[in-house]
Amino acid sequence: MSKEGTSAGYPRAVGKPRTPAARSREVAKRLATLYPAAECELEHRNAFELLSATILSAQCTDARVNMVTPALFAKYPTAADLAGANPTDVEELVRSTGFYQTKARNLIGMARNVVDRFDGEVPTELEDLVTLPGVGRKTGNVLRSVVFDLPGLAVDTHVGRLSRRLGLTTEEDPVKVEAVLNSHLPPEEWGKFSLRLILHGRRVCDARKPRCHDCELQDICPSSNLPTRDKVAMNGTKSSKRK
Ligand code: SF4
Repeated sequence: MSKEGTSAGYPRAVGKPRTPAARSREVAKRLATLYPAAECELEHRNAFELLSATILSAQCTDARVNMVTPALFAKYPTAADLAGANPTDVEELVRSTGFYQTKARNLIGMARNVVDRFDGEVPTELEDLVTLPGVGRKTGNVLRSVVFDLPGLAVDTHVGRLSRRLGLTTEEDPVKVEAVLNSHLPPEEWGKFSLRLILHGRRVCDARKPRCHDCELQDICPSSNLPTRDKVAMNGTKSSKRK
């Protein structure tokens, strides 16, 4: 293996999973071997910091978010501090992450809600998390799985794309993708499965140019642009029959 997540050791079409559920379990197993750690790449020390960083990560790279959060958290270390912030000051701190006015408004709104409605503690239930400004199911599930060690399968663009390419679901709606994947895997695997799909999407299964020749899932992926051993064998059989 040249680096984490890649291999030139294809194809290995042995005992192929036949159903989306079985394929999900096989994908989860292989990704766990490829990305054993699967840490969230947004730097944080507690739930408030990860919630803030995740709000900032919309339409922005984790690396960029990690560049602005140290100064943000130094100035506003708690939800109570951020709740009383001047919006212009927050805008300046998060400007480089894009959509900075909306993000500053959501950060302050989130902090005020956490202080006023949850005694300053970030809630753990998804139904509460999604009531906070700037927080949807994706962010809520990231919080649950990464900080609270609770079941939560975040569906971002990578998770949706890979799930469809791998034939785990045909759904386009992230909420439906989440429901289908949740039905395929045990709750304790949801969070890591999401993080690992994201890593594989970033490193191997690129949106425009998937590197199928380097992919450990190639032999079980219906979207692979490479011939599998089965297909090669099938073609060979067909051509020999034609002769
Ligand atoms: S085989 Fe290709 S399309 Fe399938 S998951 Fe791997 S990189 Fe993506």
